[in-house]
Amino acid sequence: MIEISDKKKCCGCTACANICPQKAIKMEYDSEGFMYPTFDINKCTNCGMCDRICPVINKFNIKEKGNFPIVYACYNINNEIRKKSSSGGIFYLLAKEVLKNGGIVVGASYDDDFSICHRIIYNKDELEKLMGSKYAQSEMRNIYRLVRENLIKGKKVLFSGTSCQVAGLKKFLIKEYDNLLCVDLICMGIPSNKIWKDYICNFYNKGKIKSINFKDKTYGWDCFSVKVLYEKGEDIQVGRLNNYMQLFFKGINIRPICFECPFRGKNRISDFTLSDCWGINNFAKELNDNLGTSSVMIHSENGNKIFESLKDELKYKQITFEEATKNNIYALKTVKPNDERKKFFSEYKSNGTNFKRLIKKYARVSIKYKIRIKISQFKRIFLGGINENFNHWRNRNIK
Ligand SMILES: Cc1cc2nc3c(=O)[nH]c(=O)nc-3n(C[C@H](O)[C@H](O)[C@H](O)COP(=O)(O)OP(=O)(O)OC[C@H]3O[C@@H](n4cnc5c(N)ncnc54)[C@H](O)[C@@H]3O)c2cc1C
Ligand code: SF4
Ligand code: SF4
Ligand code: SF4
Repeated sequence: MIEISDKKKCCGCTACANICPQKAIKMEYDSEGFMYPTFDINKCTNCGMCDRICPVINKFNIKEKGNFPIVYACYNINNEIRKKSSSGGIFYLLAKEVLKNGGIVVGASYDDDFSICHRIIYNKDELEKLMGSKYAQSEMRNIYRLVRENLIKGKKVLFSGTSCQVAGLKKFLIKEYDNLLCVDLICMGIPSNKIWKDYICNFYNKGKIKSINFKDKTYGWDCFSVKVLYEKGEDIQVGRLNNYMQLFFKGINIRPICFECPFRGKNRISDFTLSDCWGINNFAKELNDNLGTSSVMIHSENGNKIFESLKDELKYKQITFEEATKNNIYALKTVKPNDERKKFFSEYKSNGTNFKRLIKKYARVSIKYKIRIKISQFKRIFLGGINENFNHWRNRNIK
């Protein structure tokens, strides 16, 4: 049975809970709002399965593979899809391809209360549920078992998630499956799902919520906004000035293990690593229309074959790993611990804390920073040129 004495040693992937033959492991929220396994010693038979498959205890030994990763700056030529995606809409293309061939797609979606969970999608009409980055840790529930059932039936499966979720799945499966494709992300860290739920209740309570987009491109991809659409009206705020996203950028609301993430690196166990193509103007300016460009790292022959078959639906340019990661440091490095994290959670846990006041206190930014962001936002509105929808956005109110 696994013992978690240090919270930095568990990524919350749920592989242990999914594998336990005695159903002796439950995933439960801790006081910071992250899920950890709890063990029922009366049910445990000490079979050792959970210890053997935990991806933090048993790290992958990833070897260099020929020319991999092959790296592209690219975007989906369908602008409607791109607008709904966080970066270049590459995930949609990969998912569409798998669904077209009778497969299923697994990824992070909103639950009924807008908390985040992984789910399976069986057709293209449902795909929108998985599109877009959601900045809270997805509940995995029994998803690994469902993936395995489908793989055994011979279904093609595209599994998408953070690198630790992909690692958890691969360890859980024990053996390799030719019909599995995995997509991970360059991942700075993952915020607490519980803080996110509290945030919705306290900050997004102006009516029934229809949709939430963490990376809306109204003011451009490089100046993304958090947009909440209510049945009546909407709330849109530049990400850099949004309290919730500020907590994320400062590393205040993220999981302890993310400060020492063991899952990043150049070579990975997934077939694709997707990310924003930050720094694009230095090496592929012609692919930047500020509607979103991805960098895609391909790690396998299978992945390369699929990418080649999608090229007609892409604008692309091959780039180097170094170009793709120079301005995207979390591909290789971990986020620096922030001293304020401990104080934040200690206040969060204490009775009688006013949640709104707490968030505002820790998310605060300097006046100089606020002015800089506002100026860049106004430039986009009044000087024009962010994308073909510019005039449509021009007269909107800004928070
Ligand atoms: C928490 C988080 C941190 C990130 N950090 C960085 C970063 O530091 N640098 C960078 O370049 N890119 C980062 N990204 C990735 C980036 O924002 C895009 O998601 C990625 O480039 C794919 O874009 P897309 O347009 O192809 O597809 P999209 O449609 O935007 O991507 C959707 C995919 O992301 C997955 N996903 C969304 N939210 C979650 C979640 N909470 N947990 C697990 N999987 C999720 C979905 O399963 C789906 O497969 C991060 C994403 C997340 C969710
Ligand atoms: S040792 Fe075996 S029975 Fe016990 S919790 Fe782990 S997987 Fe379950
Ligand atoms: S298998 Fe995953 S959830 Fe279980 S202890 Fe290891 S890292 Fe944590
Ligand atoms: S930073 Fe690492 S440990 Fe944290 S969510 Fe991302 S992949 Fe998992």
